Amino acid sequence: MTATAAPTPQQVLERVFGYPAFRGEQQQIIDHVVGGGDALVLMPTGGGKSLCYQIPALVRRGVGVVISPLIALMKDQVDALDAVGVRAVFLNSTQGPDERREVERALLAGEVDMLYMAPERVTVPSTAELLDRLDVALFAIDEAHCVSQWGHDFRPDYLALSMLHERWPTVPRIALTATATAATAREIEQRLQLGEARRFVASFDRPNIQYRIEPKNQPVQQLLQLIRTEHPGDAGIVYCLSRASVEKTAQQLADHGIAALPYHAGLDARVRANHQSRFLREEGIVMVATIAFGMGIDKPDVRFVAHLDLPKSVEGYYQETGRAGRDGLPSTAWLAYGLQDVVQQRQMIDRSEGDGAHKRRMSQLLDAMLALCETVECRRVQLLAYFGQQSERCGNCDTCLAPPESWDGTIPAQKLLSTVVRLERERRQRYGAGQIIDILLGKRTPRVEQLGHADLATFGIGGDLSDQDWRGVVRQLLAQGLLAVHGDGYGTLVITEASAEVLGGKREVRLRREVARPTRSSKRSAP
Ligand code: ADP
Ligand code: ZN
Repeated sequence: MTATAAPTPQQVLERVFGYPAFRGEQQQIIDHVVGGGDALVLMPTGGGKSLCYQIPALVRRGVGVVISPLIALMKDQVDALDAVGVRAVFLNSTQGPDERREVERALLAGEVDMLYMAPERVTVPSTAELLDRLDVALFAIDEAHCVSQWGHDFRPDYLALSMLHERWPTVPRIALTATATAATAREIEQRLQLGEARRFVASFDRPNIQYRIEPKNQPVQQLLQLIRTEHPGDAGIVYCLSRASVEKTAQQLADHGIAALPYHAGLDARVRANHQSRFLREEGIVMVATIAFGMGIDKPDVRFVAHLDLPKSVEGYYQETGRAGRDGLPSTAWLAYGLQDVVQQRQMIDRSEGDGAHKRRMSQLLDAMLALCETVECRRVQLLAYFGQQSERCGNCDTCLAPPESWDGTIPAQKLLSTVVRLERERRQRYGAGQIIDILLGKRTPRVEQLGHADLATFGIGGDLSDQDWRGVVRQLLAQGLLAVHGDGYGTLVITEASAEVLGGKREVRLRREVARPTRSSKRSAP
């Protein structure tokens, strides 16, 4: 790009990026920033946020400064811009002094259209002094939700970005994120001093993604079934909670002939970079990863995102599943979750550092995720409602395709809750789900014998349901707040205030019948 005569946004779109038309609100956003206004852009992953700051950076005089936490991706982003003739550079901790000096020289010589840098660089005095000497076209703050202390991606360095406005008050700022609850948006505005910014909120619906959530029985077998019947040879991402389960799952998939690679923060940096680039460049790689993987990854043809463990929040779930189907073609978001997930997440919250308010907030985030898992309504309606958007039944999620039956679970709930109560009152003891279910089923295990649990009045009264059915009952009661995990760190169960209404016969309990989930009839058919 030459800086002589300013081209229009439409001209840049066509000539530089090779696209005929803007998408959604891109044009309005770009016009607003070109005109010098601040903007807060809430747009789902794949919505086209990058052009919203890249084009104004090219249209306005000076260099566009992009602040991004994704150091690992900066080189790729800069290379991609270079390839279309945009003069882009980056400043980050991976560079040596020579390389940095060359970048500074080019910047001062006016040879640069866009500068990418990590948030921690901006506050370094030498960087700020460098920016003082440049004509800055705009500041783009990517992944702006990282400023939210309540959020799942908090980065302390983002808090310092309020200095942008203080030090360079006339430079327009555009903050962008794919996380869009009203609370996060308010927090971004407040912490980044974007009170005057215009807010642009795109629809969060991703109609080509089919959302499915099913009970977890044999997760790897369930996943293999999904891959073989619906996504053979497709690229996908499988999220697991721990590094150990990432490694194990990747190995198991590989043993079954799936091109699976592990990715987590504990792997050697070179291995990680290699796996990431293979995932991006080769076809049909299944990346098994912790949530350390994926932010900023631009791979349009990820056909499925699978979760083998329960995400901590709907925000996280939405963002992770949003990496499927950026190209608009049918894709699957599949989650398997079980009783153990609920217990484990509750324990993690109890053990986490942070004060009571923090734990309550984490609990609320988890409750919303559980409500999405247990809903008998359209998943998409519930998901979008969480982000403040109303919608109609979608016809392309598991509950729309095969509406789950619900059944009157009051009596099983009473049997279970009264077992918990009796153990607590008569024995002054608490137990986890396994022992309570053994009692209900009347199993004379060594532990039952030793503890004398066969003498309890509820021993053996639950033989009408199977072990797995009971686990489903416990899970759903936990999700409905009719049962709770005690904060002792052992995953023991306790009753709640609401349990008393059930035990007293004042409250009916509806449970979701766990049915086999539908599979899509033909792999590429339209939703
Ligand atoms: P986000 O950052 O919101 O996740 P990107 O900016 O990476 O999304 O854009 C997602 C994809 O859509 C990219 O491949 C991008 O080139 C493409 N894209 C963005 N805007 C347009 C447009 N107006 N026309 C065609 N393709 C576009
Ligand atoms: Zn639906």
